[in-house]
Amino acid sequence: MVKFKYNPQSNVADEFICHDEVLESLQFAKEHLHDEEMLQNILYTAQAEKGLSHREALLLLMSDNLEINRQIEDLAKKIKLDFYGNRIVLFAPLYLSNYCVNGCTYCPYHAINKHMPRKKMTQEEICAEVTALQDMGHKRLALELGEHPTMNPLDYVLESIDTIYNIKHKNGAIRRVNVNIAATDEESYAKLKNAGIGTYILFQETYNRQRYESLHPTGPKHDYNRQTEAMDRAMRGGIDDVGIGVLFGLSTYLYEFTALLMHVEHLKAVFGVGPHTISVPRLRPADGINPELFADCINDDIFVKIVACLRIAVPTAGMIVSTRESKETRERVLQLGISQISGGSKTSVGGYSHPENKDDDSAQFDVCDNRSLDEIIYWLLQNGHIPSFCTACYRKHRTGEAFMKLCANKSIHHFCQPNALLSLQEYLTDYATPRTKELGEKVIAEEIAKLSPESAKFVLQHIEDIKNGRGRDFYL
Ligand code: SF4
Ligand code: SF4
Repeated sequence: MVKFKYNPQSNVADEFICHDEVLESLQFAKEHLHDEEMLQNILYTAQAEKGLSHREALLLLMSDNLEINRQIEDLAKKIKLDFYGNRIVLFAPLYLSNYCVNGCTYCPYHAINKHMPRKKMTQEEICAEVTALQDMGHKRLALELGEHPTMNPLDYVLESIDTIYNIKHKNGAIRRVNVNIAATDEESYAKLKNAGIGTYILFQETYNRQRYESLHPTGPKHDYNRQTEAMDRAMRGGIDDVGIGVLFGLSTYLYEFTALLMHVEHLKAVFGVGPHTISVPRLRPADGINPELFADCINDDIFVKIVACLRIAVPTAGMIVSTRESKETRERVLQLGISQISGGSKTSVGGYSHPENKDDDSAQFDVCDNRSLDEIIYWLLQNGHIPSFCTACYRKHRTGEAFMKLCANKSIHHFCQPNALLSLQEYLTDYATPRTKELGEKVIAEEIAKLSPESAKFVLQHIEDIKNGRGRDFYL
């Protein structure tokens, strides 16, 4: 029995992300790397689909045994299907403002980047952006903005959320707004919760304290504890769906992977539920940022294996990959565990309503997958996935523990699958190109045949409603 040094129940960053425990885990994994019996035992444990500890998952990640790696891939695919089926949820980032007081050395929005054009959208400009997003077919957004106490105060974020939820353009609607803002206090998190946000997303960037402090030399984000303990404050403030992640490439991936799983263990130990989502962004080129300056960038094969091992270690967390990744890489990771992707994204402020600015120099990073949302939907359908615009759970109060229970016993499928088909039908009726519509309707018909009679009846009835203009937004 391994005795962990760290304390997942502690509220202190250095105790639940215990540096010594990360190092010991790395040492332990190195020593047992070729212990096939141990690796097989871990895989056996993982087959119960209840997750793995950080040490167990790290051993799988580090293994170079071809047979073990084949089994990891197979199991990740199985868990993906058992928990998420063939559905992929779509969202788009919306950049509200790139004013920022922080000095993150890997981000072009850092305060001392004087040639970055600074923009902050007015409520009218937000309306134009959201209308453009609605016209693409999006229903779910992730709000992004830099940290700036006077330019981007919380009131601005709250007003913007209210604006977004109230824009009704043709058949469009944004039904879920997730928010990615800087670490803040409990009171502010409670206000975000009251504003009706879906998930609160905050990437740790790197869990390695020393590395964190050197990469964030200035600004309030320099405070490692403030960042690392943010999700605790968010959950105490009433937000029960939180999304975590690291920016792979800032420190060694083995360190980040281990610490990320310790963060999951901490949230489970203190709040009874793990993160709602885990994001796996990788460092990308951007204005003034050369990823080659960062020695810890990871290649595609390692990236793919990280996704597979996270899928096995935390089956109940949705996993997100953005347009930072290419079509080819996204194809590989979609099978292995990713359940949400962005599509048709712009990473600049005002990029959706002004698509003519192709080389917008206010972009946070270069998008690698530049396809339109419709092209992405078509590609997903062609590859056997069901694109979903579902936003049902938080609107039905299936959040936090209630959601996790349904997810852990795999009964969330009964909601996800009908909702996916209905939200896809809305997309096909209102926004799709003819070829996407044709393929999508064929896929929907095939999928309805696999539903229970009761679910099939519900879906068929409302598909007719959508097609005949009797209504939209049907969900369980
Ligand atoms: Fe600001 Fe976020 Fe960029 Fe850091 S990563 S400079 S906090 S926008
Ligand atoms: Fe997500 Fe819930 Fe919709 Fe399933 S039913 S896709 S879990 S919002």
